[in-house]
Amino acid sequence: MKKVVKFGGSSVANAGQFKKVADIIKSDKARRYIVVSAPGKSNPKDEKITDLLYRLYDEITAGKSYKKTMTAIRKKYVSIADDLGLKFNVDYELDKIERDINEGAGRDYAASRGEYLCAHMMSEYLGYDFVDSADMIIFNDDGSVDYDRTYEEIARTLENVKKAVIPGFYGSLHDGSIKTFTRGGSDVTGSLIAKAITADMYENWTDVSGFMVADPRIVKNPKVIETVTYAELRELSYMGASVLHEDAFFPVRKDGIPIHIKNTNDPDAPGTLIVESTCKNSKYMITGIAGKKGFCSVNVDQPMMNSIVGFCMNVLKVFADNGLSIEHMPSGIDTMSVFVHQSEFEDKEQQIISGIHRAVKPETVMVDTGISLIAVVGRGMKSVQGIAGRIFSALAHVGVNIKMIDQGSSELNIIIGVKDSDFETAIRAIYEIFVDAE
Ligand code: ADP
Ligand code: ASP
Ligand code: MG
Repeated sequence: MKKVVKFGGSSVANAGQFKKVADIIKSDKARRYIVVSAPGKSNPKDEKITDLLYRLYDEITAGKSYKKTMTAIRKKYVSIADDLGLKFNVDYELDKIERDINEGAGRDYAASRGEYLCAHMMSEYLGYDFVDSADMIIFNDDGSVDYDRTYEEIARTLENVKKAVIPGFYGSLHDGSIKTFTRGGSDVTGSLIAKAITADMYENWTDVSGFMVADPRIVKNPKVIETVTYAELRELSYMGASVLHEDAFFPVRKDGIPIHIKNTNDPDAPGTLIVESTCKNSKYMITGIAGKKGFCSVNVDQPMMNSIVGFCMNVLKVFADNGLSIEHMPSGIDTMSVFVHQSEFEDKEQQIISGIHRAVKPETVMVDTGISLIAVVGRGMKSVQGIAGRIFSALAHVGVNIKMIDQGSSELNIIIGVKDSDFETAIRAIYEIFVDAE
């Protein structure tokens, strides 16, 4: 049995957390390949090492004073090393990083050192080998992962390594320079390694006891989802449930390797299992709720639009020509609405409105702003009637006006549009009707 085990920033934020990690690893022999993030926050006032490293780079390259930032980084690592009695020479490493940045090393290099140092320290603490991701995860010049090379390098490098600690978040370009994923990317590192070595399981340890039915910052003490499918979770993650990096699904999903979300601070909690497919029903009629603010809808009116061949296609072409991707497109007999991210739309709105006028000569084109989209997701929704009805009545009950409702053809989700100011109220009301009221 082989498990790839990733620990997020809060799981390695201080010496006490390192100890918890070691206990978790030692309690299961299959936990052989350990991916770590950079130390995160120990308390709400603390700063994440990655944020400090970005700041350090910006200060050094702008010729500003960076002493305070460097001191904060040093303090964090020195206190972990001292408390655990590690030999790792933090000062030597930080001096090298400072010198490298001064001599022209890039921003990605600077950011990557958070996980690099952390992995070195964890490897000494556990007595596992350190294996550098820079030698295994290879990016193309356009920023995409060179999957073939990456899987090959990982499999070859780890073939004869029984136990290793591997830094998350980065790899290298073909020329050898360091390249990072987007923020939260250590999840992707774990996933690539799990796929390359055909792991039995990818465990992702974080600071919550699993994937919750709704964002814990909006709903108080939400229930934890026991089992969720990749497809459901993708819908939820895409809509803002940010426990796992969006790109962490593809590598393992293809091979049916399950991901187990677990809590470093409560290792006995069952967590959430993410699987390709399952015969287990969700406990509730829905699996989860997630949402995002900041959309706008472009509403195009034209009597008898439904009988005009190519009308929708020509409207959508205007968005495509302006490089805008669309989120949703509910339509009626005389009207269609196109939902887009407001931040992307703002700069191009007049080109798009005039473009639509030229393309299809509609009666009106009206823009509605400040809309949130909420996804209610569940593999069980297909077989239950009246889900939309329940959502309508829950929202009416708390005085929230629904601006749009759209059901995906997979019947895996229902998307609801509400005003940004109603976002939190709507999520709480939907949670209550499907979970609390059950
Ligand atoms: P890590 O540093 O371990 O990678 P993250 O901060 O990236 O952890 O992800 C965990 C956080 O995701 C939680 O602390 C929580 O605030 C947030 N979160 C957002 N939506 C959800 C959800 N539906 N269920 C659980 N956590 C959620
Ligand atoms: N340390 C990086 C970040 O803060 C990557 C990660 O934590 O996954 O984004
Ligand atoms: Mg994360």
